[in-house]
Amino acid sequence: NRRIVLASRPEGEPRPENFRAETAPVDAPGPGQVLVRVQWLSLDPYMRGRMSAARSYVKPVGIGEVMAGGGVGEVLASNAPGLAPGDIVMGYFGWQTHAMADAAGLRKLDPAEAPVQTALGILGMPGMTAWTGLHNIGQPKPGETVVVAAAAGPVGSLVGQIARLRGCRAVGIAGGAEKGRYLVDELGFDAAVDHRDPDMAGKLAAACPKGIDVYFENVGGTVWDAVLPLLNDFARVPVCGLVAAYNMTELPPGPDRTPALMRAILVRRLTLRGFIVWDFNAQEEAFRQEVGAWLREGRVKHREDVTEGLENAPEALIGLLKGRNFGKALVRVAR
Ligand code: NDP
Repeated sequence: NRRIVLASRPEGEPRPENFRAETAPVDAPGPGQVLVRVQWLSLDPYMRGRMSAARSYVKPVGIGEVMAGGGVGEVLASNAPGLAPGDIVMGYFGWQTHAMADAAGLRKLDPAEAPVQTALGILGMPGMTAWTGLHNIGQPKPGETVVVAAAAGPVGSLVGQIARLRGCRAVGIAGGAEKGRYLVDELGFDAAVDHRDPDMAGKLAAACPKGIDVYFENVGGTVWDAVLPLLNDFARVPVCGLVAAYNMTELPPGPDRTPALMRAILVRRLTLRGFIVWDFNAQEEAFRQEVGAWLREGRVKHREDVTEGLENAPEALIGLLKGRNFGKALVRVAR
């Protein structure tokens, strides 16, 4: 078993030396367990949080422990009813080539239904984040304007496509002209804005002539600064992620803008609500039914950014936090 462990906690941007590759023996599965050969590892922004010791909604990875992560793989040996060698399963296997897993925590996949790695993207955790956050908190109504950032990624790209399917105007914010063209030409967004454009705020205002009714918050930072003045009365803001801040080591210099923010929330009666995807676990089946059907019918599209080889996962995660990925970030661990 080859695996990648957390060697040290990063200060700011993670660096290759924060990770270490190791080999370890592979055991036989105990009662209720299966041995899995990992084929796909999912890379996700939350992994930056797990590398840090700061308080969060889940405990950090310990120094010397295998980096956490979701994956898809093939059962090699089973000591659990209902799973047999050759079955393809999704689970939280971590950054390693082989994993011992409790069968209870696994989801068996049907390769005939959809490519199995979609269980890590549009039909998995990121897709469910988009679908549940937008519906439960964003509550988009036909004719409204929905804005989302990190819009070319697995969460944002689905948020914008659902907004269109619900009859809304969808505006995506992404880094670079190529991602912007993809949003408009391939995914059917109404407009795209580049967050590195020096006039991002002006371009966003032009793209939202009737203001913003739903802002699906994935990034924070300068994008949030551009969005806040455009939010309409009673706008809803699902607070999903703040990737612009994940590598931050201290608060940005003043002035303190909290009073201005609180006043905007009061005067414009804004709803800002944070959520973690598993808050809506009861809706998992409904999510998979609806998005699964859309995917089969070609009404939603998705895109993958595949890195070959487990040893390249650290660089790929470092890149993901800077927008180097274009689509759902995956590592092909084995074929
Ligand atoms: P992405 O694949 O979209 O990757 C993150 C993207 O963020 C990068 O590709 C980059 O795209 C963009 N980005 C990075 N830095 C900045 C910045 N300073 N300003 C603007 N954009 C930036 O990730 P996901 O779709 O997997 O996740 C999107 C968000 O959803 C993340 O914040 C993540 O933490 C959150 N999330 C939350 C969950 C929850 O339960 N609350 C569950 C899953 C995800 P670009 O090229 O456009 O800059």
